[in-house]
Parts: sequence; C-alpha cells; structure tokens
Amino acid sequence: MTNSLKSKRSFLMGAVMLMAVSSVFAGKRKSVFVIVDGIPADVIERVHTPAIDEISNQGGYSRAFMGGKEGGYSQTPTISAVCYNSLLTSTWVNKHNVWGNGIEAPNYNYWTIFRIAKNQKRDVSTAIFSTWEDNRTKLVGEGKPDAGAIKLDYAYDGMELDDKNYPKEKDNLQILKIDEAVADKAAQSIRTEAPDLTWVYLQYTDDAGHHFGNGEKFDGYVKDADNQVSRIWEAVKEREQKSGEEWMVVVVTDHGRKDDGYSHGGHSDRERTVWYATNQKPNAHFNNQYNSILDVMPSICRYMNFEIPQPLKSEIEGVSFIGKTDLVGVEAAKANGNINLTWKAYNPKAKATVYMSTTNNYKTGGADQWIKVGTVKAGAENFTVDTSKYPSDFYKFSVVTPNTQNNCWYVD
Ligand SMILES: [Zn+2]
Repeated sequence: MTNSLKSKRSFLMGAVMLMAVSSVFAGKRKSVFVIVDGIPADVIERVHTPAIDEISNQGGYSRAFMGGKEGGYSQTPTISAVCYNSLLTSTWVNKHNVWGNGIEAPNYNYWTIFRIAKNQKRDVSTAIFSTWEDNRTKLVGEGKPDAGAIKLDYAYDGMELDDKNYPKEKDNLQILKIDEAVADKAAQSIRTEAPDLTWVYLQYTDDAGHHFGNGEKFDGYVKDADNQVSRIWEAVKEREQKSGEEWMVVVVTDHGRKDDGYSHGGHSDRERTVWYATNQKPNAHFNNQYNSILDVMPSICRYMNFEIPQPLKSEIEGVSFIGKTDLVGVEAAKANGNINLTWKAYNPKAKATVYMSTTNNYKTGGADQWIKVGTVKAGAENFTVDTSKYPSDFYKFSVVTPNTQNNCWYVD
C-alpha cells in the first residue's frame, strides 16, 4: 500500500468515525416555548424586538386567534390561565374547563403537552421556568394523580410568593425582576441541562398593560421581554452549535388587549388576536384565518415525534403548523335534517375518513364509540352525515387524513 493510499484510507476512516460520533448527537431534537403575556399583535409588529424578529426570520411569524368559536360551544374567555391551558392541551374551555385564573376544576382528561411528553416510551426530560407557580402545580398538575402524577425534571418558579426576596413594588415591578430571574435561569438550564421540553412563562407585559394601557411605557416593557427572550434564544443557538442538537423555539402571546391596552377577557378582535414566532419553517397552515393558539401543542409534538394516544388525538383541536397538514377548521352545522361538515383543505388529494360519536365519555375518563360514517377527498371540503339513524342533540366528529386529524362537536 502506498503512503498516499494509506493516508487517504485513514482519512476516510477518520471521517467515518467522526460521522458516527456526530450522529449520536445529530437530530437530537429539543423544544422550548415561551409565553410572553398579553402583548397585542399590532404592538409586537410595531415595536423593535430584535430577538423575536431573528427567530421569525429563521422560521416564521404569524397572527393567530384565541377564544374558540365566538358565540359557539367552544367560546373561550381571553383570560391568561385559560389561554395557557388552551395552548397546553390544544382544546378550548368546553373541554379543558379552566374558566379563569382561579383554575378551580381543570379537566385533566385532556392531557397537557407535559403529560404527553412523560407518556413516551423514551425518557423525555421536562422543565418549567415561570413567574407563576400555578402553571406547574395547577395547569400541568404536577404530582396530581388525576393529571398523571407526572414529575417535571427541572422547575424554577414560585418567586411571586416570596415577598422577602421579591417584596411588592410600585406598579408590581417585582414581577419584572422575577421575569429577569426566570429568563436567566431558563437560559442557564438550556446551556447546561438542555431539557427536551421547556416552557418559559414571562408575565410583566401583562401587568404593564393593566397598569399603563397603550403607550411608550408598555412598548418599553415589550422590549424588556424581547431582551429576556434573547437570552433564551442565544442559549439555544449556542447549544445547537456545540452539541449538534436541533431546537424548535416558539414565542407566543396568550391574548391581546382591549383597544385602550388595559384589560382583556372578552371577544373584541384585538383581544382575540394572538401571534407566534418560530425558528422552524412553517407549512401552508401558518398565516391564515384558521391559525389558533391550539396549533402550538401539535406542532411541538410533531417536531419532537411524540406519540399521542388515539383517544386523545380524537379530542385535540389544533393542527400542526410544521410538516404536512392536510386540512383544518372542521365545523358541523345542521342542514336539511342532517349534519354538514365543512373544512379547509391544504392537501386536496388526501383521503379523509369521517368518524362520529354521540357519546362524550372521554370527558369523564371513559371511552367513546366512534362510528365510521364515510370517506371523501379532502379537497371536497364538505361531507354530509346522515344522522337519521343516530338521533342525538350532541355529536362529536373526527376527520382523519394520512397527516392530520381534526375534530369538532355539534351541539343542538
Ligand atoms: Zn395573560
């Protein structure tokens, strides 16, 4: 063997070994979603927010809606904890049952993304960094048997209850200090522990809205929030460079505000309009009227390759804004004594199978009887269900395609 051949071969072997080493890390996927509370879309679009802009420039930015179907069975208050739980469970309040910030009786049968994560065959490490402890203890319901008795691997929260280190300040500014600590801690954890699924919750922008309404002060606190997001984003980029991991980042607000910028909870356009930014290239579903806060959870689940139990899939109402999504917006309405389903198709050729149930046992932890009622090309965007054999004042429908499952109720 000549020297040149030998060196060529050892170079090749080295390259193969390098590839083998890097493949251990390559493709290891992680995700972090950040809720910045109560920032109207028109504000985030107007104010200079370089970190959120950089994330959007890598993937995308879109407006979306919160609040369920206005005037319909799924109408959902644009109140903070209600919004977070809609995001976590990808269902509206008619299912998850969190009607206000008191979080009196969440229906844990509609799993949060953390319970889904902990239900995977593989180990999935989870983390919450939050200016509000209830996110972990009540919404995710850590340790509660009804909520799956799951345990977060990393948590940093509850400082709002620590009036020794964070005594109440004018304009509630101690909350801004807590956000700063939460953002720093989250960035540090991403750098060192790199949890597979992280939720960061930053609150002060909502306080600022309630205190000051629209104006320069509010805009300034939005910039502070962007600066907090920048620390998390820098940690993610560092992690991707050093470890070869791939990260999905989503920054999202939970609700808008009334026109004067002070309050929220109702169904004006500005209150119902939310937005999100992601570093992942979105699909055709992004940036349209069907985009809602419910789409964050299925998008992260798809990115992370989380398996979702079939009965839960039949309850989730959002669809993924990354990868292939065949249709969205399934709705049911009475028509000539039958029920007519409509939707918006992204993949017209996809075969859609329509299922129906007249029971809602899932709500109380039971199983539903799903009946296959027909198939149609997704592009028809329409299917009439002959309900004469199944008289009921309540129906659940599920439209299943190769890449998507989208569900709705019909309530008389
Ligand atoms: Zn809020």
